[in-house]
Amino acid sequence: MHKRRFLAMFALLAVTVAACGGNTNTATESEETEATGEETEEAAEETEATGEETEEAAEETEASGEAVTIGVSWNNYNEERWAKSDEPAIQAALDEAGASYISSDAGSSETQQLADVENLISQGADAIIILAQDGTAILPAVQSAIEQGVPVVAYDRLIEDAGALYITFDNVEVGRMQASVIQELVPEGNYVFIKGNQADANADFLRGGQEEVLQEALDAGDIVNVGESYTDNWDPAIAQRNMEQILIQNDNDVDAVVASNDGTAGGVVAALEAQGLAGEVPVSGQDGDAAALNRIALGTQSVSVWKDARELGRAAGEAAVLLAQGTPLEEIPNTVTFESPDGNELISILLEPIPITEDNLDVVIDAEWITQEEVCQGVPAGRVAVCP
Ligand code: BGC
Repeated sequence: MHKRRFLAMFALLAVTVAACGGNTNTATESEETEATGEETEEAAEETEATGEETEEAAEETEASGEAVTIGVSWNNYNEERWAKSDEPAIQAALDEAGASYISSDAGSSETQQLADVENLISQGADAIIILAQDGTAILPAVQSAIEQGVPVVAYDRLIEDAGALYITFDNVEVGRMQASVIQELVPEGNYVFIKGNQADANADFLRGGQEEVLQEALDAGDIVNVGESYTDNWDPAIAQRNMEQILIQNDNDVDAVVASNDGTAGGVVAALEAQGLAGEVPVSGQDGDAAALNRIALGTQSVSVWKDARELGRAAGEAAVLLAQGTPLEEIPNTVTFESPDGNELISILLEPIPITEDNLDVVIDAEWITQEEVCQGVPAGRVAVCP
């Protein structure tokens, strides 16, 4: 950032001096220039003096964050949370710091996202926040940004580059929470695992947490894994199709579904509904999507692990501004070291998730994450405490 800003100022100065000096290509003009040489020198000195002031002003602005621009590369907006909670929270943090926001949406294309990151840099981003479509495919863009002096925040999803700041919720813990709630409801029986997008490391983090909780029961044969599939792009329609197939393969003999987020849970519940099984078969999720919290109140979903994306967005926005202002990665506050699957020690900010079931729907309402009306839409009075 500093280098680019300095070059920009230098270019500005050069233009100013050239404008003062005029065009010196012809002899007459150069004589004139000589005659007014002293004046020009004075003007140049003045320009230099203003230049110093400009530099000071720029430094001051920088300290208050005003001059920095943060670029956010979204992979898509398919999930409710990104546009509704994460993006406004990032923008609010930037507004508070006087920083500007630019963004791009890769439309689920990892190739597009590579170009997006470069474009954000050429548009003047001083730091980049990346929600990666594919944590591996994005690596060249991350390396290139860091080489150009543009720090990177790996947002919500892992990017295996120790040069990036990793800001996320504890995703393994999300998986543990999903499995624990489901296991309490169904200690024995046939389980289905609807996982996330394979190119997103969160899919396996979640599955890892779920396995930790359920492994003993699986080994003992109390729980049987009767179907498991990744879900391309976390697409609810694909989750629904996968669930329909698993139901057919098992003659509907399914007792519980560990779905990895609320979008896929929606697809699963639709598949169960078509077989008259919605509400009979516990289903998990995560994100605290409005539709999912309503399903919890209705009794067709058992848990949504809530990750207050407003907190995540704020943390990322604040950290990105600090990085853009030149704060070294190691000096970003509230970080811990996260050992990645590839053995990288990543400087990370890890936030804590909270499982929401029909017993604590008040938590999300009190936090003004959702209104009581939204939670209780179509819910018979008294089915859950928050819908009297
Ligand atoms: C996020 C989830 C989200 C999913 C699909 C995951 O990486 O952690 O919160 O539901 O992507 O967008």
